[in-house]
Amino acid sequence: MAAGLFAACGTRSEAPTSGVCLDNLDTTANPVDDFYQYACGGWMASHPLDAEHSRYGTFDKLGEENVEQLQGIIKEVSARHNDAGSSADKVATLYNIAMDSVKLQEQGAEPIQNLLKEVASIQTREQMVSQIAKLHMYGIGSFFGIFNEANPDNSKMQIAWLYQGGLGMGDRDYYLVNDDKNIKFRKAYKEMMNTEFALAGYDKLSALPSEQLTDMVYNLETRMAKAHYDKLVNRDPYKTKHIMSVSDADKLAPNVKIRDYFDAMTLTSLEQFNLCQPEYLTEVSNILATENVETVKAYYAWNIIRTASSYLSDEFVNASFEYYGRIRSGREQNRPRWKRAIGTVEGALGEVLGQLYCEKYFPQENKKRMVTLVENLREALAQRITNATWMDKETKDKALDKLNGVIVKIGYPDTWRDYSGLEIKDDSYFANVLRSNVFDMQYMLSKIDKPTDPTEWLMTPQTVNAYYNPTTNEICFPAGILQPPFFDVKADDAANYGAIGVVIGHELTHGFDDQGRQYDKEGNLSDWWKESDAENFKKNAKVLADFFSSIKVLDEPETYANGEYTLGENIADNGGLHISFLAMQHAIAKGQVSSDVMDGFTPEQRFFLAYAAVWASNIRDAEIVNRTINDVHALGRWRVNGTLPHVTEFVESWNIQPGNGMFIAPEDRVMLW
Ligand SMILES: [Zn+2]
Repeated sequence: MAAGLFAACGTRSEAPTSGVCLDNLDTTANPVDDFYQYACGGWMASHPLDAEHSRYGTFDKLGEENVEQLQGIIKEVSARHNDAGSSADKVATLYNIAMDSVKLQEQGAEPIQNLLKEVASIQTREQMVSQIAKLHMYGIGSFFGIFNEANPDNSKMQIAWLYQGGLGMGDRDYYLVNDDKNIKFRKAYKEMMNTEFALAGYDKLSALPSEQLTDMVYNLETRMAKAHYDKLVNRDPYKTKHIMSVSDADKLAPNVKIRDYFDAMTLTSLEQFNLCQPEYLTEVSNILATENVETVKAYYAWNIIRTASSYLSDEFVNASFEYYGRIRSGREQNRPRWKRAIGTVEGALGEVLGQLYCEKYFPQENKKRMVTLVENLREALAQRITNATWMDKETKDKALDKLNGVIVKIGYPDTWRDYSGLEIKDDSYFANVLRSNVFDMQYMLSKIDKPTDPTEWLMTPQTVNAYYNPTTNEICFPAGILQPPFFDVKADDAANYGAIGVVIGHELTHGFDDQGRQYDKEGNLSDWWKESDAENFKKNAKVLADFFSSIKVLDEPETYANGEYTLGENIADNGGLHISFLAMQHAIAKGQVSSDVMDGFTPEQRFFLAYAAVWASNIRDAEIVNRTINDVHALGRWRVNGTLPHVTEFVESWNIQPGNGMFIAPEDRVMLW
């Protein structure tokens, strides 16, 4: 790593820095042809992939630094005296048991034996059906999932949503699409299952060979997959909205015994809920009536084993890693035990760590500056809406009304979650995970059929991410993302507008993307669009969807981006860039951003370099395939090289000309926010 003239990126100096780290550039590349390589090539060369990563980028680097900070916090907490049963004591105890490799090896599959025996002892079809709720209470998925979410017709109330689930490979396409890569995935999945059935001893409990158990479960999951909605249908909030009474659901899926299910989930007074995929529940009902009881039992056992395997002995951890890590993502080696342990502590006690993290790492002044930035962005989006040529005033007024209603959350929540009901003790790692799952499930269930809590956060403060929630019309920026290179208090603000400014604009735009626009300012699913404006929106959005679908992301196996699946995110990137660029222009006019050339770049150029730097990353081929199937975001390279040619401000700032790699004709550029 060069320590030359410009290696001082992020170090303190008197004058603001340009916010552009010149070491991150590859000046041998031509920005007009491959902006990603130009802006990120230096970074990519100096941050090669290591064995434990399938992708390593700016986000991942911050995530890793974050894990180290959390480790420091956990070590501090562990070193001091904590009262038994205090949150600090729980953090220390859980971390220590997760790290106790000797005990994990000694215990082997012992921690899941009671659960497996319970399943093995099922005799009747009634017991088989009632087992679903028992597993769900433990956080062990089977057939479908339950969670609280706003009532789409009345966002002020939280209701139960039942959602398709229960597939060990995840997406239905893994089971149903017959190409080389899926055939390979299926083979590896079955190998993992076969290995783990034997390791867990379920072959002996069931008196069936693990190969046979594996085939039974695999065939059952394939049957389920056929009834799953595909992921594009699931993006449609109307197609997944079927609010119905328990008795109506009972008619659709009589063998699920839905009333008994809700009763067992302690939802005894629940009368209606959202059944996201009714046809799927009907198929589950058919399965429960017709499948061999031993097959369904094996499926439950597999779900227990699969859920537990990360918290058992190394044989389980390694078998799971082989499939989920190596085959699916191309990772060569698992994350070290201490990082996995921190992940578990975060999952179980996230806000305890979050509170300590914010006390140590989040300066209050960051929050103040963010508030100002967000308001500047809101003003810029209002201006863009007002000036849009493809919408009528009627719809614009409603859009502005919605924009003004967006609630902003920055840093960390005002109140912290109470973990006093969670018991952490020195029995087994998995037993603690199970108690934490039960604790979280009860917490989730306690929100159902209650008013929406407007103060709730959907991410922990240490998370390096941000979100928009359409049902509360809110944007949220956890403390974790409010640090360089997203947000650098020492840099001139051109770079901050290009990085965190675009993130803010991105989240605001989600309120108006192809999904978000279907919700009104109260967070209800209701159509506030004039028909011709909605038609224009769809027509314009299709430009972006088609453009991304034409991008070949990998030669072998030949893989194209999924423009429809990533549409919401690509609209948000496009809008975020326009909005933040306009906000920066306002700031330049007010003298808040230097109009000087710094490090050889105009403020407009610094803006786009900072934007691209956020997406610098190296990625394995297997992970390109994985993310193209499962990630609603475009790949880092294409969030730069696919998104920027549509942004005229970029084309002008970098003097992109017809024939350049980054050029598309003005009439082919998407026109939305
Ligand atoms: Zn997004």
